[in-house]
Amino acid sequence: MIELSDRANRISPSMTFAIASKAKALKAKGVDVCDFSVGEPDFVTPAFMREGAKAALDAGQTKYAPTAGLPKLRAAIADKLAGDNGLAYTPEQVVVTTGGKQALYNTMMVLLGPGDEALMPAPAWVTYPEIVKLTGAEPVLIPTDESTEFRVSAAQLAEAITPRTRLVVLNSPANPTGTVYTPQEIAALAEVIVEHQITVISDEIYEKLIYDGRRHVSIGSLGEEILSLTVTCSGFSKAFAATGWRLGYIAGPIHVIKAATALQSHSTSGANTFAQHGALVALRAGNAQEVIEEMRLAFQARRNLVIEELQQIPGLSCTVPQGAFYAFPNISQTGLDSLTFCERLLASEQVAAVPGGAFGCDDNIRISYATDTETLRAGLARLRRFVATLA
Ligand code: PLP
Repeated sequence: MIELSDRANRISPSMTFAIASKAKALKAKGVDVCDFSVGEPDFVTPAFMREGAKAALDAGQTKYAPTAGLPKLRAAIADKLAGDNGLAYTPEQVVVTTGGKQALYNTMMVLLGPGDEALMPAPAWVTYPEIVKLTGAEPVLIPTDESTEFRVSAAQLAEAITPRTRLVVLNSPANPTGTVYTPQEIAALAEVIVEHQITVISDEIYEKLIYDGRRHVSIGSLGEEILSLTVTCSGFSKAFAATGWRLGYIAGPIHVIKAATALQSHSTSGANTFAQHGALVALRAGNAQEVIEEMRLAFQARRNLVIEELQQIPGLSCTVPQGAFYAFPNISQTGLDSLTFCERLLASEQVAAVPGGAFGCDDNIRISYATDTETLRAGLARLRRFVATLA
């Protein structure tokens, strides 16, 4: 038998994709499934981005792009980070990657190794601990709960730091909780990071999806010292409804970007060329902000609907998510663990949700509301019926 490496044996497959493929398989059999599993906007990528990629294809842009990305795209991303986020990066401090996920992967691969610890507030997006394990380092979860709307405090972060801590991963707005840190909270975390001279990976992929007038703050924008310790990771998947394009980016200190580019040169060779041309058009499009705003408003309306419905289900409780497109209701009163809850919900009511256990929080389940309101209404009615059977 072919033996797997220790590395391969250490990782678990993504629970989100596992549930989503179960739901897809049921749908393919003609079952009427309400799929709340996958974090993927249901909108089609804006026309300007699609046209940009089509024009590039028609012009024969089908060869390798430079490993770090098209120079014009790197410059456009640097401009975006300066304009939207107050982050001072040169184009050389940006590398274009194959999705936001590869941005995180490359970053962690060049920063972490055996013996290192990587901190992350829990619940944490499923992929963070798995990538950390791939590097040989150890993920260390800092638990949070509803009492702080799943925020980690500066004091908690300081307490979790050990001599082995290399970095902390911050994700605001967060998957799976929808938590958005306030500017003051980000500043307090930055102080601890600077004091202890650790690195922060700031995953800002949901930055455009923030509700109720709240504001996104990029931790690296808070001063030169914190910027020198920050690696900003993001991408096009969520803001531009472009999950299938597989485009993301890293921005950070030049030596980190060089190492991430070298790694990329031996793995993917760089991101898809015509997709990058589409992204360039998207960042330069005059109406991009309006289109993004339209999607944000639609998500906000769905968020309101989902929370209103969830809060009326006896036996469930839910904090109000301030960003991203997930609700994270607490199911502990039902007496079921999150995996059993989700398996039974799918089997009896054909509603697909992700067990909170996958994110390190077994009292909750994740509902993605990146789907149409009709499906949301139907699925939540089924969820209510299911919870009633557990009483
Ligand atoms: N970061 C977070 C928190 C996410 O939820 C996701 C996708 O679900 C990503 C990064 C990666 O996005 P992608 O690789 O699709 O660009």
